[in-house]
Amino acid sequence: MGRYHSSFQQTLWQLQITFAPDEYLELLARHSQPGDWLNSRVEIASYWDKLPRYLIARCPLCGVRFTNRADTHSLFMWGDSTGGRGRALSAHPENTVPCAHFVGVQKFINLNGNIPMELDYFPQAWGDVPVITPELLLHTAQTGVVMHSLPICRVERGAFTPKYVVYLLTYYAESPSAAHKAGGGGWTLFTASQHAGHDPRVGDLPYWVELGKLHWLDLDDPTLPLKSGPTSDFPYAGIQGVGGSYTYRKRPKPRWQWLDRSWHPDGVIYNSSENEVLARPSW
Ligand SMILES: [Zn+2]
Repeated sequence: MGRYHSSFQQTLWQLQITFAPDEYLELLARHSQPGDWLNSRVEIASYWDKLPRYLIARCPLCGVRFTNRADTHSLFMWGDSTGGRGRALSAHPENTVPCAHFVGVQKFINLNGNIPMELDYFPQAWGDVPVITPELLLHTAQTGVVMHSLPICRVERGAFTPKYVVYLLTYYAESPSAAHKAGGGGWTLFTASQHAGHDPRVGDLPYWVELGKLHWLDLDDPTLPLKSGPTSDFPYAGIQGVGGSYTYRKRPKPRWQWLDRSWHPDGVIYNSSENEVLARPSW
């Protein structure tokens, strides 16, 4: 398995490993209960403060860097129920709004055709194929969005191995409050992958580069400068995936096979209502 976009190889050099695999797996095992996730002071020191810091975007209006601590060792912290709710990549207390133009950051976790069988459950409401939210860009002239990507690992044969990718879209506007209003505000601020089916513009990333609204960090330069063109240099055209919201889940073996013909011991990727199979391991 594994279907990797051409940009994946270019993004790998950014990866920072800050845990030993055994130490990391032990830490996750201790905190596998939802709601009981790394809040104490000891946990902040042993987990949060050891996370690597990444450059996520540069403001197209003022140039200020947007950095975040994020856990690229595994998918564990990237499910819908955890994380920074459009303000950051994770709930790390250091992750704050970088400049007066920051509107929000959206994450699209793409599994690159891999089944995340190291987990039991992994919901992704926004989907895996990055799309643009036009309302956040077209409400006024002074707006922009910056695209970037980071590899995400899992532990394979005792080593952190990059398997997945997070595509990041960080929105900026002269007036973030006007952008929030235009985008509907709060958790509904961003458009999900499946909207590309209703409005082809939202999934046509090169179109937004042409318009001068979509920028990216240049993966070919170790200083990751902001790039705005030409469109032929844009590294993220043609990203593939299930194309909508998805939920990976392991289920107990059904008592009779006919009750759940899609069942697989390593789990299945469903649509968000979990009534349609989008991808499954081969037998
Ligand atoms: Zn700014």
